[in-house]
Amino acid sequence: GIRPLVAGNWKMNGSRAMAASLVAEIRTLAAAGPASVDLLVCPPFPYIPEVGGGLAGSAIALGGQDCHMAAAGAHTGDVSAAMLADLGCSHVILGHSERRADHGESSLLVAAKAKAAIDAGLTAIVCVGETEAERDAGKAENIVEKQIIESVPAGANSSNLVIAYEPVWAIGTGRTPSVADVAAMHRHIRSLVADRGPVRVLYGGSVKPANAAELMAVAEVNGALVGGASLKAADFMAIAAGA
Ligand code: 13P
Repeated sequence: GIRPLVAGNWKMNGSRAMAASLVAEIRTLAAAGPASVDLLVCPPFPYIPEVGGGLAGSAIALGGQDCHMAAAGAHTGDVSAAMLADLGCSHVILGHSERRADHGESSLLVAAKAKAAIDAGLTAIVCVGETEAERDAGKAENIVEKQIIESVPAGANSSNLVIAYEPVWAIGTGRTPSVADVAAMHRHIRSLVADRGPVRVLYGGSVKPANAAELMAVAEVNGALVGGASLKAADFMAIAAGA
């Protein structure tokens, strides 16, 4: 099977001190348990060096939450994939629904960012997911299919691409799709990326210690992208233990 990946998306939370203590706690807990899953933490840009220092010598991977599509240049406020790689990042989250909503990111832009990330040697975690209205209208699989077709660049494969299925209505709400709905969507996503090799397909949206084992047991769920619960080391590691 595909080795699971449990990734923490810290979003725009915390402080430098909090980032340092969180990574130290995660590291301590990870060292105490069996390494049956890969772990990744994605702090806010300013704290990447601090967290990278805290992870030095561990097997826990470091990632960014976005990058620009260009390699360098006049793009005030943006960060390149090469800068993330330079700081020790191996992954970058792209096309999260919060960026699609807050910054109007289109799937075509996400594909350009994913290409830039892969060209810089990073693994692109491409996020997709339907809104509640889209699911209620019976369009969830069609919406996600369109997002995948448009957001995944040529040249992406299982060594440099992860897909994260995150229903928008499940993010930060405490609500999750049924196990059957997760299974159906992940089967569909798997069929769409089958020609890219054994790509990891993560589930994200209100993953907690209490529901992680059930969600992670679903066929074609290869780990989790965790938001709120990744800000507590014990919760994040309990999720990893269930994956
Ligand atoms: P929550 O786990 O807080 O619902 O966030 C999920 C998410 O958006 C991860 O990228």
